[in-house]
Amino acid sequence: TGLIKHFPITKGLLKRQVGAVKAVDGLDFDVRSGETLGVVGESGCGKSTMGRLITRLLEPSGGKVEFEGRDITHLGTGAMRPMRRDVQMIFQDPYSSLNPRHTVGAIVSAPFKLQGVRPEGGVKKEVQRLLEVVGLNPEHYNRYPHEFSGGQRQRIGIARALALKPKLVVADEPVSALDVSIQAQVVNLLDDLQAELGLTYVIIAHDLSVIRHVSDRIAVMYLGKIVELTDRKSLYETPMHPYTKALLSAVPVPDPRRKKERERILLQGDVPSPISPPAGCRFHTRCWKATEVCKTKEPPLLALRTGHQVACHHPENASDIRLPSGSADQ
Ligand code: SF4
Ligand code: MG
Repeated sequence: TGLIKHFPITKGLLKRQVGAVKAVDGLDFDVRSGETLGVVGESGCGKSTMGRLITRLLEPSGGKVEFEGRDITHLGTGAMRPMRRDVQMIFQDPYSSLNPRHTVGAIVSAPFKLQGVRPEGGVKKEVQRLLEVVGLNPEHYNRYPHEFSGGQRQRIGIARALALKPKLVVADEPVSALDVSIQAQVVNLLDDLQAELGLTYVIIAHDLSVIRHVSDRIAVMYLGKIVELTDRKSLYETPMHPYTKALLSAVPVPDPRRKKERERILLQGDVPSPISPPAGCRFHTRCWKATEVCKTKEPPLLALRTGHQVACHHPENASDIRLPSGSADQ
């Protein structure tokens, strides 16, 4: 609730705080048990920060993180310990997130040591079982990461994340470092594991192509804010935020007859600096629908339809919706 993460920027020897990067600014969202929440946005939008806040790898500057109804924002290391089992993270880069000097067996069994857990049947047997679960040869537990391909390495990272039987798995761009041909396999593996193990996922991605098939709901982020949050179908069929529309236009459409309906929208300009985000709607410097009000008034994230939240003064696909009073179109 109201999650905020400001990174202080320090300069020179005195480490004076000279500003704050508003990586995540007042995020408000929930993750539902058993669902996959996709989080999408360009690099620098704060989505990785958000993932690290949920898993408590980062301390928020403000706001609150709750897990199963419990406020875990300020739990100390000791109290966080059991929580660490329930919430696990899969990282973007399977090359740098696995220690090259450790065998796969050591990597996958590390969580047991950290948490002092003794799996039934012994560590080795459990590691081999986990390798099998993620589609690797259990006999390869004595090999080193460099003996595996990128896709296989990400499977090792997944096996490690699953070791302690977590409830929530946050995957930060789990396939963006992999060949396109391998991406679908790894995403499908995550999907299968979810069904089998009853996992809840937050999957972070920089475009909509990877997460479109596996997400139940999708949050679109721009400069530290959620600008749209809804179920997958509504997002693809009736996107309401112009930024979402632009992101969708970049996803290749397999059916050529539908190409026309989805004209490619090329966004002008770069993502502005998160140190001093634009006033009003943060997207106004790149939005083709921007009006005067967009430059001064920040649009709140509102449920314009049931289960469809959007932060925009002039939403798309909204001809049937009466915007709340005080909104732009009056
Ligand atoms: Fe564009 Fe204005 Fe909507 Fe922001 S509020 S997305 S600038 S139309
Ligand atoms: Mg990232």
